[in-house]
Amino acid sequence: MTRAFIGLGSNQGDSHELLDRALAELAELPRSVLVRCSPRYWTAPVGDADQPEFLNAVAELDTALEPLELLGRMQRIENDLGRARDPDRRWGPRTIDLDLLLFGHAVIRHADLVVPHPRMARRAFVLKPLADLVPRLEVPGLARVVELLDALDAGGVRCAQPDASEKGA
Ligand code: AMP
Repeated sequence: MTRAFIGLGSNQGDSHELLDRALAELAELPRSVLVRCSPRYWTAPVGDADQPEFLNAVAELDTALEPLELLGRMQRIENDLGRARDPDRRWGPRTIDLDLLLFGHAVIRHADLVVPHPRMARRAFVLKPLADLVPRLEVPGLARVVELLDALDAGGVRCAQPDASEKGA
């Protein structure tokens, strides 16, 4: 088994519900065990600011799938959950986005898959939940998760655990 970390993000529809459903589908993957998920965070959009905030989290998955097979399964989950892609807005709104952040200690440079995820070191909305799970984990070729996070401004990332007040009850 290889320990993989998957970033989840949503800023369309009921984002908590979409993350719940994505996690349920990850838990159903063959030859895999969903170990745990980080706390969730509301984060300011990056790249294309004219859109709602994102709900982000990171899942830890033990898997015997090959990395490209895992990526294909993740893309099927995105499609199942109704992700519509706008070709003119690469960084635009999305119901659900799944990124393969880390796959054990692997460094992968494939046309369809780059691991560690090429933008993770610049994204506080990835590093904050990842640091909640594995702060001292070494990101291959870079540094420890907490060291990468300390180098960023994490001001736009706030804890978003679902509770009664958020649902208006
Ligand atoms: P996005 O629209 O930002 O989710 O990007 C999806 C595209 O990025 C797909 O064509 C993937 O093949 C590619 N990709 C490359 N590396 C990764 C990765 N580590 N995780 C997810 N998608 C990746």
